Formats: sequence, structure tokens, C-alpha cells
Amino acid sequence: MRAEPEQMVLDHGYVRFIEAYGRGQGGQEWADEYEIGIVEAARQSTQGSFRSWEQDQKLLAHLHANKHATPFEFAGMVLEVQAPLFVFREWHRHRTMSYNEMSARYAPLPDLYYQPTAEEVGRRAFEAQNLRNRQQQGVAPPDLEAIRLWCEEGLQIDALLEDYYKRGLAIGVPKEVARVRMPVNHYSRMRVAADLRCWLAFMLLRADPNAQLEIRRYAWAVGLMLRRTFPVTWGLYVESGGPHAGDTML
Ligand SMILES: Cc1cc2nc3c(=O)[nH]c(=O)nc-3n(C[C@H](O)[C@H](O)[C@H](O)COP(=O)(O)OP(=O)(O)OC[C@H]3O[C@@H](n4cnc5c(N)ncnc54)[C@H](O)[C@@H]3O)c2cc1C
Repeated sequence: MRAEPEQMVLDHGYVRFIEAYGRGQGGQEWADEYEIGIVEAARQSTQGSFRSWEQDQKLLAHLHANKHATPFEFAGMVLEVQAPLFVFREWHRHRTMSYNEMSARYAPLPDLYYQPTAEEVGRRAFEAQNLRNRQQQGVAPPDLEAIRLWCEEGLQIDALLEDYYKRGLAIGVPKEVARVRMPVNHYSRMRVAADLRCWLAFMLLRADPNAQLEIRRYAWAVGLMLRRTFPVTWGLYVESGGPHAGDTML
């Protein structure tokens, strides 16, 4: 397996590589070659087959540059993701991916809540303030002490909700009812499958600086897996200016 088996994201999240496809017929001889299926799909029009990467790299570059996107649907990967519910809410908007999420009706939810550090919240408050100052003068700087207290209070609220949830289960409240007060910073877990075309579209939108930082971090982790699993296509994506984590880590 060439992909990183797992990337930690945020305080309790992860992206785990499950499997990839795209070996086509020719790729069966190479244990880890997941891009031959793309070349074979493109050559279907002339009934040709994969030759060698020396020759076929050019074909992939041509397809990518000219947005001949359908051959990239003949490769793909499956991941397991643990993320806060508000990240899933953004992620699930990508309708062309397939999802299966753990059910809080049948299994107790993991006791995990997302809490960014006070330092990070402060930094993001400063960034937002700088942006507002560029648009209008005289915005007051963020109160870092108030932010620290706000973060501490958030942890207390999480603990209160967790206790409430567990007490409900203990007295026989069904899981499907006990879960209804869970906040969107609660972690959940899903499997997600998508072809390479979809993964690249996801990267373009969610690794971009306009996306919220939390889902961006997940997109960076996905990018590391794409880089290891589909190195030729990944190179073309990066060369064309596709957003990604670069050498910075999560
Ligand atoms: C920075 C950012 C901010 C956002 N803010 C908001 C927001 O404030 N509110 C909000 O509701 N959403 C918001 N979104 C979500 C956004 O509107 C899209 O739902 C999300 O990015 C998924 O994109 P998509 O539809 O291209 O993906 P997919 O659903 O995976 O679709 C992929 C592609 O398939 C095609 N396709 C899919 N379904 C159809 C269809 N029914 N008809 C025609 N073509 C189709 C399109 O070409 C589409 O681009 C935001 C997204 C980003 C990245």
C-alpha cells in the first residue's frame, strides 16, 4: 500500500486510507499502480492500451490540461474519516461522492468534541479583524482573555452535554432520542468513496483559502493520500495551480 495509512486532523479527527482502484487490466502486474486504468479508459476510443509511463505521462497531461475529465473517473479511492459534524455537513454537499456514516441510532456516539485552542481562536479573530479593518476603520482588537474564557466555557458545555447524553442512555432513553442535543462540534465517523475526478474537484473547492479552515485541513490530508496513490495525476493538479498543503503539515 503506497498511501499514508492514516493522517491525524484537528484534535481528535483523522483521514484513513482504506483502498484504491484504477489498476485497469495492465496494472494487475504492478501491485500499486492505480493510474493505468485512466490511460486504458482514454485509449478505449482507439482500442489501445497502457504503454509505459514515459509515453503515457504525456497522455495524462493532455487529458488534464484539456479537461478531458471522464478517464479520471476510472480510478478512485475509499477513505474513512472522523470529523466534527459541522465538517461533515460541508463535506456531504459534495453529492457525487458516496457516503456511509456511523448511526447514532444504533451505536453510542464517541465521547469526542472538537475544541480549537484559545491561541488558534485568537489568531483567527485577529485575521478576521484585519480583514474588517481593511474594509472599515476603527474595529476594536479581539479581547484574548475573553476568548480564553469562552473556550474554557465551551469545554464545560461539552462535558455537561456528554453527561446528559450518557445519563439518558443509562435510564433507558433510546439512542436515537438521547442524541438529539448533540452539538455540531461532536465527532462522527464515515466512509467516503469517490473517483479521482471527484476528489480533485473536492480539493479545488475545499483546500482553497476561501474554505473554512477545519475542512481545509481535511482536504490537505486527502491531498497527501492522493499524492501517494495517484502521483502522476497529483503532479498535474499541483502544476496547474491546484490548492494543497504544500510542504506544511496539518
Ligand atoms: C468556500 C465555500 C463556501 C460555501 N458556502 C456555502 C453556503 O453558504 N451555503 C451553501 O448552501 N453551500 C455552500 N457551499 C457549498 C457549495 O455550494 C457546493 O454545494 C459544494 O461546494 C459542492 O460543490 P459541487 O456541487 O460542485 O459538488 P458535487 O455535488 O460533488 O457536484 C460535482 C459536480 O457535478 C455536477 N452536478 C452535481 N449535481 C448537479 C445537478 N443537480 N445539476 C447539474 N450538475 C450537477 C456539477 O458540475 C458539480 O460541480 C460552499 C462551498 C465552498 C467551497
